[in-house]
Amino acid sequence: EVTAKLIDGKKTAGDLRNELKEQIAKIRESVSSFKPGLAIVQVGDRDDSNVYVRNKIKSAEEIGMKAEHFKLPKSTNQAQLLAQIDKINRDSEFHGMIVQLPLESDNKIDVDTITNAVSPLKDVDGLNEQNAGKLARGEIKRCFIPCTPRGCLELIKRAGVDVDGKNAVVIGRSKIVGAPMSDLLLWNHATVTTCHSHTHDLPGVASKADILIVAAGKPLMVKKDWVKPGAVVIDCGIGFVEDSTRKSGRRMVGDVDFPEVKTVASHITPVPGGVGPMTVAMLLQNTFDSAKRVLERHQNV
Ligand code: NDP
Repeated sequence: EVTAKLIDGKKTAGDLRNELKEQIAKIRESVSSFKPGLAIVQVGDRDDSNVYVRNKIKSAEEIGMKAEHFKLPKSTNQAQLLAQIDKINRDSEFHGMIVQLPLESDNKIDVDTITNAVSPLKDVDGLNEQNAGKLARGEIKRCFIPCTPRGCLELIKRAGVDVDGKNAVVIGRSKIVGAPMSDLLLWNHATVTTCHSHTHDLPGVASKADILIVAAGKPLMVKKDWVKPGAVVIDCGIGFVEDSTRKSGRRMVGDVDFPEVKTVASHITPVPGGVGPMTVAMLLQNTFDSAKRVLERHQNV
């Protein structure tokens, strides 16, 4: 039985962080004040968000970035959150800003208003409409690409897979993963089909893919017969199934039934250790790119 090559996101993310660390140190040799800065705004105190934020800050600091956590209480309202975002927009020490989602607030806060309030020049999550619009139109060198899709493409490229001309199928069309993933593949010249909850015959559509990206949030949904033999399978899903052999009583899984799909795919990402670690690495990459852009602008005047 053929077994797919494992795409090791954990290792690739580590390589990327080392590359970024070296690049920052290198620039600092000639511009000693160079320090990419990332601001992370959180509303509330969700356990999962706390873990993600801590992880992002630790990773940023390890490579020589400044990272600051702005943790606002649950009582924060939209105007107060907008004021905090505006302050960071105007602070030149920050080249990147993200608002950790979901927001946990006692007040009604419109998420699109918040993500659009982040300066397009600092929007390292790529979630505001200006960046999304540019990506949709193929201006990929002039926008921030959302971290998870950018991480997926990086994994595909580093696995030595050329997307140009391939049939790519993306399951999911969210603003944060599915939709920008489709755009990114399209402008890297794949022929792209985007699937969602209204798609007819999802297994049939998926099985046409040379490259299958899954971001549906449905644990173990993609089975062996959904996958064309030799396809590259990238699993963005983060879900849990019951597992009595674990202390916690549950086990993390993706949207792909890994044990069976790995027998037909040519390359596959595991969960955990696939797309997840790449998302954080790409956040650092986007922040570095932003800081470098600012530096180059200053040097050119
Ligand atoms: P959303 O719930 O926002 O979007 C899910 C998408 O999948 C929607 O477009 C939905 O369709 C579609 N979908 C849901 N069920 C089906 C189905 N049965 N058949 C076909 N399409 C379906 O999720 P996200 O995009 O935010 O996240 C997707 C997954 O990726 C989650 O597991 C999440 O935890 C994970 N994730 C991982 C990250 C990482 O760092 N690795 C980062 C972000 C997310 P419709 O639009 O019609 O509702």
